Amino acid sequence: MNFEYAAAPESRSVVKIDPVYGHFINGKWVNGSAHFNSINPATEEVLSSISLGTAADVDAAVKAARNAFDKSWSKLSGGERGKYLFRIARIMQERAREFAVLETLDNGKPIRESRDVDVPLSAAHFFYHAGWADKLEYAGVETTTAPHGVVGQIIPWNFPLLMLAWKVAPALATGNTVVLKPAETTSLTALLFAQVCQQAGLPDGVVNIVTGDGSTGSAIVNHPGIDKIAFTGSTDVGKLIARAVAPTNKSLTLELGGKGANIVFGDAAIDETVEGIVNGIFFNQGHVCCAGSRLILQESIADEVLEKLKRRMDKIRVGDPLDKNTDLGAINSAEQLAKIRELTAAGEAEGAGRWSANCELPENGFWFAPTIFTGVTQAHRIAREEIFGPVLSVLTFRTPAEAIEKANNTPFGLSAGIWSEKGSNILWATQQLRAGVIWANTFNKFDPASPFGGYKESGWGREGGRHGLSAYLKGSAK
Ligand code: NDP
Repeated sequence: MNFEYAAAPESRSVVKIDPVYGHFINGKWVNGSAHFNSINPATEEVLSSISLGTAADVDAAVKAARNAFDKSWSKLSGGERGKYLFRIARIMQERAREFAVLETLDNGKPIRESRDVDVPLSAAHFFYHAGWADKLEYAGVETTTAPHGVVGQIIPWNFPLLMLAWKVAPALATGNTVVLKPAETTSLTALLFAQVCQQAGLPDGVVNIVTGDGSTGSAIVNHPGIDKIAFTGSTDVGKLIARAVAPTNKSLTLELGGKGANIVFGDAAIDETVEGIVNGIFFNQGHVCCAGSRLILQESIADEVLEKLKRRMDKIRVGDPLDKNTDLGAINSAEQLAKIRELTAAGEAEGAGRWSANCELPENGFWFAPTIFTGVTQAHRIAREEIFGPVLSVLTFRTPAEAIEKANNTPFGLSAGIWSEKGSNILWATQQLRAGVIWANTFNKFDPASPFGGYKESGWGREGGRHGLSAYLKGSAK
């Protein structure tokens, strides 16, 4: 049975969006020479006009970051740096509702997720790294405890504030200064974060935010004044960056794509597993690099799981992201929607069976119904390529060895899930899987203390935990 809920929209009166935003360079707002619009993907309403960063803007930001590194930030003790990080974390908590509503408006994700996941986890990353700032010599890192200097950071649109926190918190805790570029479609929470830096009294130039597109990102990557690049995004752009950085002395960490396998053994608790599958692929509209986008089911329980999964998917509430009842929000952009449509059309053309939840999609904005493909083989594009949307590919297996072979048969290696009541199954499978993060009887759980990163084309290096600290200290591998 489906309960009827009255709409429970979160008020947007808590946020103030300026009609035009400049870059945040050396603690000041600097208007760009050209602009582009940031829209609400749920309605296509123009939210604001954002500055398009040029090479000259990036250069000014790098100079400000270098000056701040030399004159103030590198002179502070770890304890003093930690105080700023604690202050930022507390202000983020105080302004949590503002951040959550703004993130939902700009990104399209449900308020339930921005409020309960993105914003609290972002603050948690600052709290966690604030604690390390004065204890680096006890962190057991396999590097020196000296910062790189100026770090260039480029982040994607799927978790705009959280990816900023993953990047900025460890960089500042270890004594680096930062030039960060948010994704073109989701700059607003990074610009609100700049206001938080001002409110926290962070010395000018320690954090610089230059908004823009891929050309702005490229100007950061290629700037000779930058000592380290940290990137999260697609594998294709990650490869371009690796090539650009290879002949230089810059250090590099890359968090790239994934095609996570979610393996369900015949003895798994089916109802809990179905919830885990839904969370694994439909959380954040499937715009998650570690999404459980390949469901690998033991044949003995495949029919039962699929029947229950479809029933559950029919109850997913798709619609207004600001409504507190909404489970699945808008696709982030028209381009991403086109990509999802192209790949799902390829799935049908290649012979997989398509099933979509029976839900009404709003007329304006960018939407895609939760969808699964059955009868998927290893050769299908939907089994190999990252769809980055609410689309699940289902494969089956007979023996555990077959499950592992299918799970590992991918150029990626970011995440995996195992569902089984037997600890021995879980321990055995964990040792065979080539994935940086493996969840057992759960999925998509994150903690600042836990390192995150991938094997193979999913990237280089780790973010979070002590391993993530190392990446921001001299002596880290390229
Ligand atoms: P991109 O990799 O293009 O974007 C990530 C960031 O890099 C953005 O800030 C982007 O700017 C910037 N960028 C783009 N081109 C360059 C460049 N040449 N040099 C430096 N920086 C650059 O991802 P997309 O947003 O285009 O998404 C495409 C696909 O990537 C998705 O469909 C998905 O499959 C995958 N993806 C994976 C993510 C992950 O976390 N693993 C995250 C996001 C996407 P701008 O936004 O202005 O283009």
